Amino acid sequence: MTHDVHIIGGGLAGSEAAWQLAQAGFAVRLSEMRGGGDMTPAHQTDGLAELVCSNSFRSDDDEKNAVGLLHHEMRRMDSLVMRAGEMARVPAGSAMAVDRDLFSAEVSRALEAHPNITVVRERVDTLPAAGPTIVATGPLTAAALADSIGAVTGAGALAFFDAIAPIVHRDSIDMDIAWMQSRWDKGDGKDYINCPMTEEQYLAFHAGLLAGEKTSFKEWEANTPYFEGCMPIEVMAERGLDTLRYGPMKPVGLDNPRDPTPEFPQGRWCHAVVQLRQDNKLGTLWNMVGFQTKLRHAEQVRLFRTIPGLENAEFARLGGLHRNTFLNSPTLLDRQLRLKVAPHVRFAGQITGCEGYVESSAIGLLAGRMAAAELAGRPWQSPPRTTAMGALLAHITGDAEASDYQPMNINFGLFPPLPEVKKKQRKEAYTDRGKADFGAWLAEGRVPA
Ligand SMILES: Cc1cc2nc3c(=O)[nH]c(=O)nc-3n(C[C@H](O)[C@H](O)[C@H](O)COP(=O)(O)OP(=O)(O)OC[C@H]3O[C@@H](n4cnc5c(N)ncnc54)[C@H](O)[C@@H]3O)c2cc1C
Repeated sequence: MTHDVHIIGGGLAGSEAAWQLAQAGFAVRLSEMRGGGDMTPAHQTDGLAELVCSNSFRSDDDEKNAVGLLHHEMRRMDSLVMRAGEMARVPAGSAMAVDRDLFSAEVSRALEAHPNITVVRERVDTLPAAGPTIVATGPLTAAALADSIGAVTGAGALAFFDAIAPIVHRDSIDMDIAWMQSRWDKGDGKDYINCPMTEEQYLAFHAGLLAGEKTSFKEWEANTPYFEGCMPIEVMAERGLDTLRYGPMKPVGLDNPRDPTPEFPQGRWCHAVVQLRQDNKLGTLWNMVGFQTKLRHAEQVRLFRTIPGLENAEFARLGGLHRNTFLNSPTLLDRQLRLKVAPHVRFAGQITGCEGYVESSAIGLLAGRMAAAELAGRPWQSPPRTTAMGALLAHITGDAEASDYQPMNINFGLFPPLPEVKKKQRKEAYTDRGKADFGAWLAEGRVPA
């Protein structure tokens, strides 16, 4: 069978993209290497859309939660992942969790039975030179294809990613304790938020890092060396009591205005400082500089909330380490997920720099719809940035800082802020606005069904 679109990778994103294109009437060749003699280091089966780790699609609350809102939008766009998820659903309170085998079996069945889809068990080693293509090979893209993508995008453009630092919602930082200043007042003088620590607080924090429970390495991860510039904070702490004070928690050149003296009226230097750097253009998310970590998530929340100024911190993302292949999408992709230097190729899923099952599926859904619009010769308009899909897409294709681009879950920090709404009502306001705008976007009818 000839095909209209070649999709490479039958994970979450590739499966969803294939479904969307096939439902729109286009013929799809879906190449998946598992089942054809290849396997990734994390997958266990040949099933399409296999969940490699937890079985959770996270919160299903579409009234106060960003990922719940994403569920809502995907359901409204006939998402196969959400449909199969519903069939395989297991009890998990307000979260949506699934029986992973039933889920993967249902996605596989739906795609293999579809008259417009041909599933081929093959590994693809080079980017196709022509013809509409969607690459959805995920964080564990096979090496030869990764090299081929790297050759087209330019050396160094395909990031091999080992560590991520936590990201904090700006409005949860206590600015009566923290202050804004760049070290030695460089840059515009106020590029960082600084959280001060006394010696006593630093010693307790250091001890907490050493004692904190860490996640263990998978065997294949253990062989991945740390980049020196990306060392987990607890590994640095193990090197010596003051290593952090000469590294990411360096206090020099930062005058704490809450601690002025006659000699230093602008404020004295603290024993140690935790710095946060703006992470998105909206200024709603701030990254804890140098705080990449393998501490368990609950432990991170507990320990990082002992940092003065972060007592009530809400985390848009917690730190972690695992192998991850992703593009510097804000630089390399256009607003329709197409490679600027080879626009017949779209990317979808985690390789674009979104993070998580649901987000990867949502970007697969959008890539499928965009390709369908292009093939049908219809103009495409992306969902508004006030919606979950629109916010995620905008982050990937241009809003994020390209120089420090890191994988991201959906969260309200990616949405245009609503400062006029009281904090307590803000989450509801984001979802109300998102649903209304998503409904209006669908009603415009410019999205190929
Ligand atoms: C160790 C680990 C743990 C994770 N834990 C979680 C978690 O708990 N919760 C969560 O939400 N997310 C988790 N993630 C992230 C999650 O895996 C991804 O968000 C999601 O699976 C990405 O979907 P995707 O379709 O982009 O990639 P995948 O689902 O990985 O699908 C990519 C597919 O492409 C295939 N492929 C790769 N290269 C080729 C090639 N050259 N030719 C043909 N096929 C190829 C692969 O076999 C795979 O089936 C984890 C990731 C890893 C690596």
